[in-house]
Amino acid sequence: MDKPVNAIIVEKLRFFYPERIRFIKEEDPYRFLITVMLSASTTDRQAENAASSLFSVYPDAKSVGEAEVSSIESLIRSAGLSKTKAPRIKDVSRYIASNGIPDNIEKLQALPGIGEKTAACYALDILGQDAVIADTHFVRTSKRLGFIDTSDRIKAAREIRERFPENEWGFLSMAVNKLGRDFCHPRPDCKQCFLSSICPSSEVLSGES
Ligand code: SF4
Repeated sequence: MDKPVNAIIVEKLRFFYPERIRFIKEEDPYRFLITVMLSASTTDRQAENAASSLFSVYPDAKSVGEAEVSSIESLIRSAGLSKTKAPRIKDVSRYIASNGIPDNIEKLQALPGIGEKTAACYALDILGQDAVIADTHFVRTSKRLGFIDTSDRIKAAREIRERFPENEWGFLSMAVNKLGRDFCHPRPDCKQCFLSSICPSSEVLSGES
């Protein structure tokens, strides 16, 4: 029996992206969490720059939790949405300074300002747990690959969890995200993409490019 297309795509992804992929290069768990919070609606580079400004003045959860919101806001301005992000970062930091960082995805999501994506990033990268990180790149690319049928991030994560084994969630999160950044841009570069011979949305196959 022929292998299903999804399985062949996953095999190719494993071949082309054999290394562990990390988008936030931060080892400290608290700083990692805050950097992921900062990355909402901006690039990872901007989030890392904003995090570095913040931590140069307030180095840990206790000091961020005690800082004025206005001061946090001015330090993280380069990441955008600073008026929304600053009070959330202060609240989360105050919680963490007293209670530590929760060690599972459900408890993380219960914290103020921690959404599904932030909790999944932390669970996968810091806790080593299996999780689906459904960000913009992942959802756009997964849909074109035929992995999911939705453009909604919450539903996308659910569909991946239902359709792929748990031990593939983390790899797919990172590899599909990377594919989206490398080739499957909003205007996809199918001619250069290593999946163009098999992808159901390939413009090379459909003769559009
Ligand atoms: S072939 Fe085109 S549509 Fe398919 S994953 Fe690659 S870039 Fe995206």
